[in-house]
Amino acid sequence: MTEIFKGNFTQQEPIPDEGIEAALDVLRGGRLHRYNLVGDEVGEVGLLEQEFAVYTGAKYALAVASGGYAMATALRAVGVKPGEKVLTNAFTLAPVPGAIASVGAVPVFVGVTESLTIDLEDLAIKAGQADVLMLSHMRGHLADMDALLEICHTHDLTLIEDCAHTMGAAWKGRPSGRDGVIGCYSTQTYKHMNSGEGGLFVTDDDEIMARAVILSGSYMLYVRNGTVPAPEVFERVKYETPNVSGRMDHLRAAILRPQLKQLDQQCANWNDRYRVVEDGLRGTPGLTIVERPEEETYVGSSIQFLLLDWSPKGVQDVVSRCLIRGVELKWFGGAEPSGFTSRYDSWRYAPSDQMPASDRILSGILDMRLPLTFSLDDCAQIARIIRAEVGAVYQAEET
Ligand SMILES: *Cc1c(COP(=O)(O)O)cnc(C)c1O
Repeated sequence: MTEIFKGNFTQQEPIPDEGIEAALDVLRGGRLHRYNLVGDEVGEVGLLEQEFAVYTGAKYALAVASGGYAMATALRAVGVKPGEKVLTNAFTLAPVPGAIASVGAVPVFVGVTESLTIDLEDLAIKAGQADVLMLSHMRGHLADMDALLEICHTHDLTLIEDCAHTMGAAWKGRPSGRDGVIGCYSTQTYKHMNSGEGGLFVTDDDEIMARAVILSGSYMLYVRNGTVPAPEVFERVKYETPNVSGRMDHLRAAILRPQLKQLDQQCANWNDRYRVVEDGLRGTPGLTIVERPEEETYVGSSIQFLLLDWSPKGVQDVVSRCLIRGVELKWFGGAEPSGFTSRYDSWRYAPSDQMPASDRILSGILDMRLPLTFSLDDCAQIARIIRAEVGAVYQAEET
């Protein structure tokens, strides 16, 4: 009998009871806006900012409306102007080039390696074209951050990190998001904490933080934020920084605070699942595992593997056959994007030269979510199904 997997790839865990209780308190109180506070109360949003700053070791944290909003705010806060070029990954998710485009800047795409990280050779070649690198740790894969920082230093590039998939991850023990001048995170449902929509922004820089707080829509109530620079820093920026509203509200913060307490345990739970799938796929003929460097503390909330140099039909067959058996793989390299876009040639508002070495990787990337609602047995079954279907199609590919 062929096994069919019955789990649901879009089913996340429930919000912790503590978060539900806190959310009900916010609703009963009626004060949802972050600055709708009583006396010198800090409020859920301010508390989340304080707690996230402690978690990442940053001087400041700002809670905002989405990860994409955090990235656009980062670009504005470091002074990116319309028409300027901003370097970013050829392999990332649409909100990343979208954030660059939203400030009128122009994405310049840097290639991807077999490790699914930014191509540092290509970065060094293109570094002279821009002042800012918006680095996306796409699907949680961290580049060699020491080598990357060296390139940024040599070329005077300001580094902003997109940590949508690396909240809780680290490079040589340094939390992801802390190597850049700014780290941006998402708390959208499919990331590592779930508030439906939401984002977080961290920095150590006083003036960047003051600008970001004003940009986020603090009116002149910024002293009430959870982590704030001194008043004189605001004096320098407050009349020249526009309000581009994108605040977080107390309801979302109330849901997130208990999740932050559990984040490290959740990351360990993801990695248990990741390793079961990875072990189950290892040694499958025709399939390349994406090996993780020792320096990287990753969070395996999704897993990728490569079918390198397969025909498009072969890859499509694997996707279709797995789907029939209940396993939802995403093919990032599909010629026509469906449901999402993740490769540079899908973003035609920012034309780029073709990158053949990257195209080879992109056309072979398969991706799968690993929601924590899956058991370890589920993960072992999923791996058996993928292994069998890749094997069946690979034989046909070979002949
Ligand atoms: C989800 C995601 C974002 C942005 O998140 P939103 O909160 O949905 O705006 C940014 N980068 C990557 C790689 C993502 O997957």
